[in-house]
Amino acid sequence: MQTQKAQKIDLSVDYPCPCHRRGNLTPIALTEAFGCNRCQRIFVVQESGYVIEELSTNYPYKKAWRWTGNQWSTAHSGLGRAYLPLTLIIIFGVVFLLLVTTLQSPLSSSMTFRAIAALVLSAMLVLMLWLACRR
Ligand SMILES: [Zn+2]
Repeated sequence: MQTQKAQKIDLSVDYPCPCHRRGNLTPIALTEAFGCNRCQRIFVVQESGYVIEELSTNYPYKKAWRWTGNQWSTAHSGLGRAYLPLTLIIIFGVVFLLLVTTLQSPLSSSMTFRAIAALVLSAMLVLMLWLACRR
């Protein structure tokens, strides 16, 4: 656990990149954002300047960090890591139910077949989501 107090992020200062130790974050002019010169990621300053959040299309999980004075510490933001397993279980349940009720097979209309097919498909979807979120 990080006990160091988070410090306000200064947009005129260069910080190390939270993803790559050798990367440097440089402020992007006229925005409240930093860009990394190594991994080309964009980090937006959030929460009144105490948190940077990776600009990403990878919802619902977005990475965020707090500056403790000499290093970044992971911050949970929004539907962060804490809610990820719950979110995945809910998605799994919804997709499973949807597939069970909508799957039609010309070969077999048995409930068992539909249940197994739905289970496999929803498991694959959740696995893909989980892998995407865990990068
Ligand atoms: Zn970087």
